[in-house]
Amino acid sequence: MVRRWIKTGQAHWIGRDTIQFDRPIGSETQELTLGINAGYKIIGASVTSETQEYYASETNLRTDIVKNLSTKRQYRRSRRNHKTRYRQARFDNRVKSKHKGWLASSIEVKIDNHVQLIRKLIKKLPITNIIVEAGQFDIQNLKNPDITGKEYQEGNQLGFANVREYVLARDHHKCQHCKADGLKGIKLHVRHLVSRKVGGNRPDNLIILCENCHAAYHRGEFELKKAPKGYAPASAMSIMRSTLLDRLINEFGDKVETTFGYLVKEARLTIDLPKTSMTDAFVIAGNLMADRLDFQELRKHVRCHNRQLHKAKFLKGGIRKANQAPREVHGFRLFDKVQVENKNWFVFGRRTSGYFDLRSLTGEKLNKGSYSAKKIKLVHRANSVITQYATIAPTGA
Ligand SMILES: [Zn+2]
Ligand SMILES: [Zn+2]
Repeated sequence: MVRRWIKTGQAHWIGRDTIQFDRPIGSETQELTLGINAGYKIIGASVTSETQEYYASETNLRTDIVKNLSTKRQYRRSRRNHKTRYRQARFDNRVKSKHKGWLASSIEVKIDNHVQLIRKLIKKLPITNIIVEAGQFDIQNLKNPDITGKEYQEGNQLGFANVREYVLARDHHKCQHCKADGLKGIKLHVRHLVSRKVGGNRPDNLIILCENCHAAYHRGEFELKKAPKGYAPASAMSIMRSTLLDRLINEFGDKVETTFGYLVKEARLTIDLPKTSMTDAFVIAGNLMADRLDFQELRKHVRCHNRQLHKAKFLKGGIRKANQAPREVHGFRLFDKVQVENKNWFVFGRRTSGYFDLRSLTGEKLNKGSYSAKKIKLVHRANSVITQYATIAPTGA
C-alpha cells in the first residue's frame, strides 16, 4: 500500500523510515476506493477518491447469535436425552466432519453481513477498488525482513513492523517470561535475543517481554535463551478475514485488493488519527489526504423474529416461561423507526404500560428510556438492519 501511495504521488520518503503525504495537485480522478475494516463486532467502511471521502459507516453486528445457537443446542440435547434408550449413531451427520470449508454459522452470518454491505455500496457508488485486510502480518515477507540497498531504505521500518506483528501473534501477545497478557493492557516490548546487528530481525531472534520483565532482564535477573518455536496460529479473526477475501474475489474479481494490519497501523500513526473502525477503513482505502466526511451512517443488525429460543430461561421449579411478548405492543414492533417532535428514534423496549424505551444509534435515550407510546409516530417498520446518519464521531473501535 505504501508503494502505491508513493507511486501515485500521494506521498514521498523523507529520511530512512518516514513517509510524508502530499496533497495531490491536478484534477480529481473518478477512482473511488472502498476500504473495509472487517470485524467480529463492527465493520468500518469508507469510500474515498484522492481528494474526498464520499461515504463512511460503522456497522454493529449481532452478538447474540452464538448464545442463541447454543441455547438451541441445549434444547436439542435435552430433548434427545428425555426418555430415550441409548442407540448407536446410525451415521455421521455432523457438518464439521462433512465439509472442509465448514465455518460456524455465527461466522457465516458475519461474513454475509460484510458482503451485503459491500454489494449495497457498489450499487450506490461507482466504486473501482475494494481494499480489505488479508491479515495482521504478511507471511510472505517474513522470510527476508533484512532487506538491503534501496529496498532497505524504503522498506525496513515497515518490514520490522510486519515481523513485530508476527512475533506478537506467535507469542500470543504474552510476555514470554511471566506470561503477562498484552491484550489485557500490559505493555509489551519486542526484544532481540542477539543484537540486531548480529542476529538480525528474523522472528527466531525476537521474543516478547513485558515492560517489567524487560527491565528485569537488563538488570541481569534472568537469561533468555531461545525464541518460542512454531508459527503464529491462525486466529478465528484471520480465518474470517481470509474467507471474506475469497468470497469477495469470487464475486468482484480484480476490483479486490489487499493490505495488511501492520501497514494500516503504521499509516494511521503517520496521520495521527484515533483508532476507530471508520478511521481504519479510511486508512485502508489509502487516500490519506482526502477530506473526511463529517457525518457517518450508523448501522445496526438486529433480530427481527421473536422466536421461542429467545425466551429460554426456566422459571423457579423448572417451568419454562411461555414466549409471551407479542409481535406488536400498542401497534409498535421492536426496532421500529419512530418520530417524536421531528426527531427519529428506534424502539429498543416496549412495556405494556405504554411507556417505551426509545434510543438513537449514537446511544441517546429519550426521557431516560420511558416515553409514552401515545405521542409516537411510526416512520417505518423494523428491518434486519436499522440505520441512522450522525454528525458526531462514534467511539467504537
Ligand atoms: Zn513479564
Ligand atoms: Zn532491551
